[in-house]
Amino acid sequence: MVLPWSAYAPQTPPLTDVDTPAWSEYISRMDRESIIVRCPQCGAKNRIPANRWGDNKAVCGRCKSPLPPSGLFPDRPVSISDDTFAGEVLGFEGPVLVEFFSPRCGHCQRLAPVLDELASVYAGRVKFATLNIDQGHMIASQQGVDGTPTLFFYKRGRLVDRVVGAVPRPELVRHLDSLTS
Ligand SMILES: [Zn+2]
Repeated sequence: MVLPWSAYAPQTPPLTDVDTPAWSEYISRMDRESIIVRCPQCGAKNRIPANRWGDNKAVCGRCKSPLPPSGLFPDRPVSISDDTFAGEVLGFEGPVLVEFFSPRCGHCQRLAPVLDELASVYAGRVKFATLNIDQGHMIASQQGVDGTPTLFFYKRGRLVDRVVGAVPRPELVRHLDSLTS
């Protein structure tokens, strides 16, 4: 079974599966080595390797426009940590949704595909980030998170809205629309 990448614990598949079409699809959509950045000029989607994120030199493969720094708005959630939170969220100019989650939390697992889908819908407008609090909860504590899933919405580094629990998609859309309005 192939899990969506933000099911949080993608297993490394057996090597024999690597060349199957299904696994190629999995790689291109779900590995954490690269992100898709939509060109602000022409709308083309560009794949940026992880080691190029934020080097400010990437250009669009189609129109050669510079792509936004830091993979501005990837079209799926990016994994962040206590160490990268400040740069990815507080130092980010645009709106950011941060999901504080635990891989052991059933509500988080149910919410994951919804966030994946919404990250694609809001690509270019909202950055989606996920922080696994089992791997570090310093930031979660600092931000006042006391359960999972908790969604915090930031704008120019300021916490402006919050949602606790696996709320239905329409409610998330309402919060996202208000974040971007
Ligand atoms: Zn372009």
